[in-house]
Amino acid sequence: MRFLDRFTTTASNSAKTLSERTSDFIEVGKLNMKRRRIEDEIIEKYEEIGQYVYGRLKKSNNVSREELYQQLKHIERIEEKIKSLEKNLVEAKKIKYCRACDIELDDETRYCPICGKLI
Ligand SMILES: [Zn+2]
Repeated sequence: MRFLDRFTTTASNSAKTLSERTSDFIEVGKLNMKRRRIEDEIIEKYEEIGQYVYGRLKKSNNVSREELYQQLKHIERIEEKIKSLEKNLVEAKKIKYCRACDIELDDETRYCPICGKLI
């Protein structure tokens, strides 16, 4: 049973305390909230552009890309922010736990190797 001994040791070494796990969940929640705020910011920018374009076209003027350069750049910056937030989210979510055995499992695990529960 050497393998199982080793596994048990590894599992207990990597197991997190309840408060550490709680802070992981809080971290994911915070990141999700931040992402929603940034997504709202992007929607506001879309609206600004939409109003501007509508106003211009109503008077049958053309709208050039140059006129909207600042807004386009702003949206690109927001998109970058969302991308990096999503990376952090993936990292934060990577940690899975078996609630029954109280052990930490890696991201790809679908069934707990100890009790066989679906994760
Ligand atoms: Zn388990």
